[in-house]
Amino acid sequence: CGIVGYVGARPALGIVLDGLRRLEYRGYDSAGVAVVAGDRLLTEKRAGKLANLEKILAEAPTDGMGDGATAIGHTRWATHGGPTDRNAHPHLSRDGRVAVIHNGIIENFAKLRAELEAEGVEFGSDTDTECAAHLLAAELAGEPTPSPEALAAAMRRVCQRLEGAFTLLAVDSAVPGAVVGARRNSPLVVGRGIGENYLASDVSAFIEHTRDAVELGQDQVVLITPEGIEITDFAGQPASGKDFHIDWDA
Ligand code: GLU
Repeated sequence: CGIVGYVGARPALGIVLDGLRRLEYRGYDSAGVAVVAGDRLLTEKRAGKLANLEKILAEAPTDGMGDGATAIGHTRWATHGGPTDRNAHPHLSRDGRVAVIHNGIIENFAKLRAELEAEGVEFGSDTDTECAAHLLAAELAGEPTPSPEALAAAMRRVCQRLEGAFTLLAVDSAVPGAVVGARRNSPLVVGRGIGENYLASDVSAFIEHTRDAVELGQDQVVLITPEGIEITDFAGQPASGKDFHIDWDA
C-alpha cells in the first residue's frame, strides 16, 4: 500500500522508516524493510503496525543494518495471502540476493508461480508478489556482471512478463548503491536529492528531504543511484517522467 526507497550516503533505515510513517494514513496491515549494507541484504518484516516492526528493529537490531545507505520499505494492504509475517514484504529470492516490494496485484501470478515451481523454485509466501522476486533473481543470474544497469535490464524483462497493476522496487545485494523501480497502473514518484535520491508511491514519503520530484509515466522503469536517475520504458528505450516541484505541504 505504501512504498519508499532511498539511495545515498546517509543511513537509509531511519529515512525509509520515516517515509513509511508518513504513508501510514493510507492504511496497511504489515510492514517491512530491506537494507543493503556492504554486500549483505538485511531484511525485517512484521504483520501489524509499523510500531511492531520498529520494536523488533530496536530490541534485536540486525548487525550492520543501521549502516546501509540503500534501503526499501513497504506497508502492505493484503490482497493475496493473509496479513502474516511471512506474507509481509519484502520478498526475497531463494539465494537471498534480491528483495522486492510491491503495491498492486499481479494478475497472472498463478501461472508464473506454477512455471517457477515446475523449475524447482520453492515459495515462502502466499502472495502474488513473490513470483517477481524469483523472476528477477533468474534474470540476474543470466547477467554476466552485476551492475546498476544489469539490475534495471533484469527488471525490464520481468515487467514484460507481468500483467495487472504494480509499483515494484527491488534491491540487489551484488549492486549496493542502486534501487530499481517500475510501474504499471500504480503510482511511482522519484525524489531528486543531492548525492541521494528517493522513490515512493506518494511524495509525502520524502517531502521533508526534497521537493524536486519526477512522476513516472505508464510502463516505465527507473534506476536510482546516489548521483543518477535513469528512466526507460519496459523495452529499454530512454524515457522521461514529468518533472515537478512540490510547492504545497503534503
Ligand atoms: N498484492 C500484494 C500482496 O497482497 C501487494 C498488496 C499491496 O498493495 O500492499 O501482498
